[in-house]
Amino acid sequence: MPNKPILASLGLILLGLAAVAYYFLATYAPAPVDPAWAVEGDATVSPGSVTVRFTGTSTLLFDDGATAWMVDGWFSRFGPIALLRGEIGPDLPAIEKGLERNEVDRLAVVIPVHSHFDHAMDAPEVARRTGATLLGSESTANIGRGWGLDEGQIRVAIDRMPLRFGEFTITLIATRHFEFPDPAVREQALSNPRITEPLVPPVAAFDYRVGQPYAIHVAHPRGSILIQASAGFDQGRLEGYAADVLFLGIGGLGTQTAEYRESYWRETVTASGAKDVILIHWDTLTGPIDGPFTGEVRAATFLSSGTDETRAFLEAKLARDPELRFKTLPRYEEVVLF
Ligand SMILES: [Zn+2]
Repeated sequence: MPNKPILASLGLILLGLAAVAYYFLATYAPAPVDPAWAVEGDATVSPGSVTVRFTGTSTLLFDDGATAWMVDGWFSRFGPIALLRGEIGPDLPAIEKGLERNEVDRLAVVIPVHSHFDHAMDAPEVARRTGATLLGSESTANIGRGWGLDEGQIRVAIDRMPLRFGEFTITLIATRHFEFPDPAVREQALSNPRITEPLVPPVAAFDYRVGQPYAIHVAHPRGSILIQASAGFDQGRLEGYAADVLFLGIGGLGTQTAEYRESYWRETVTASGAKDVILIHWDTLTGPIDGPFTGEVRAATFLSSGTDETRAFLEAKLARDPELRFKTLPRYEEVVLF
């Protein structure tokens, strides 16, 4: 005969565990940005304007009316459990919907900033659907080859060599990835950095090895742009790449040391001379790709020490420089840059 009080307390314990699991795996930390920095989409875009659209993380679409191109083109999303335990591959309906939401049909080029899944995984399919060149590291090229993308659409970047796409002159500058403070995470994400063979998904998330990370400099007759998506730096690498607008990745920055944050700031914001800073890569990797942006899933923030100094750091920078402006972009809406 089962003991009723024991069963009842067992039930309560299970319920408690489920609640804890739900909290860590299905709720999100607040985004590390001030809602006041959010800009809205522009209802009217005058001909010749350079515009940007943001999907989330560092997926960006640039368009001057004649030429459109993308950074990353990542639209698949996976829950935290699938990421840790399962095998992942491009989500074709999500890619189709993502391109639709961005109103993309033709692209000149798609450029993953490095080869981790949250940047490079969907890019070959985006290239296949839009006719774009897939431009990036040799590791990114192997993601393209594993997907069966035509070799003629794959181009391996040469460090600091400018390439022309319409009126956009795009230069990839080799830089470093964010240095995860946690040694185990760093080992998992950054050791053995190259993908040396065509990568055929589904594969484990970290089979998308980092490859060579790049910053992207963009010169256009209307204005210049620098994109640093992963919060890493290599001293002096971005000297000489001034920009009117800087897209600054801040993911994980708050878990780093104050010294690291200051170096990152000096090597990106100060180096570029930009006063207009658009913050990217601050939203969750695992949450939905629609609706309001959130911070990272609680499990991730908990594992990365639980404290995030990002917003306090950014607010202190704003307080010190009256010319500095932070912006966050709306999802999918067209925003005029120049
Ligand atoms: Zn990465």
